[in-house]
Amino acid sequence: MKYTIEPTTTTTKALLQKQGVKQKPKAVWFAYPMATFVTPDHYNDELEITATEVVAYGAEDCMAHALLEVCEELRTATDCTCTFGHEGGYQIVTILGDICSKKGKPGDIALLRDLCPTMQAQALCGEGRALAGAVLQALDLFGPEIEAHITKKSCPSGGCPAFKTYHILVSKCTGCGKCIKACEDNAIMGKPKFVHVIDQRKCIQCDLCRKACPEGAVVRAGAKKPKTPPRPIPVRRKK
Ligand code: SF4
Ligand code: SF4
Repeated sequence: MKYTIEPTTTTTKALLQKQGVKQKPKAVWFAYPMATFVTPDHYNDELEITATEVVAYGAEDCMAHALLEVCEELRTATDCTCTFGHEGGYQIVTILGDICSKKGKPGDIALLRDLCPTMQAQALCGEGRALAGAVLQALDLFGPEIEAHITKKSCPSGGCPAFKTYHILVSKCTGCGKCIKACEDNAIMGKPKFVHVIDQRKCIQCDLCRKACPEGAVVRAGAKKPKTPPRPIPVRRKK
């Protein structure tokens, strides 16, 4: 959740309370010129707030995706064309975009760790240096969460749209077949009066079946997946 704030000296905790944030976020981003993540261990530390925007991330938010958004924002905030700021920023955003869309490669984290210190030292604009600093800070703070996108091909928080999967709930499916008709990728198995099942190998997460289902039986799942049968079974739902 994004909040607009005013420059002041305060703690992250007090700031969140002022904004009416009830649940403790897993991290808070203070926008440029602060350009820093703060984690719960430091919510009581006093800060001189110079940013006019903060973003609070909850358990369901993905920090790899958060970092991608932060970097995209910093990149578009500057019209600097120096090699390190412009090209470095482009490379970093591309790598993070790949990580968040299941295309991350084993060497990506090492590449980011290589690229960022040089960019931090050589970029001419403050935004470029801040971008590199934010990446290094995020890798230190949220390394395992970010790396899981590459090593485990999963998004631990379930926040990355590309890592979400579609499932049909046994408790809700009536076997009407509307989802099969809507699916253009032949990714749904089923027949009348049988609970339909999505073939995860074929599903391209297009969302058409979810929109077509009149029963709300098709759900999108992040880290926690519902239990579904491997193949269609007779409908159990009682009308
Ligand atoms: S999300 Fe799209 S591809 Fe996947 S099962 Fe539904 S309609 Fe088919
Ligand atoms: S998932 Fe929805 S649309 Fe598909 S068969 Fe079940 S009730 Fe019908």
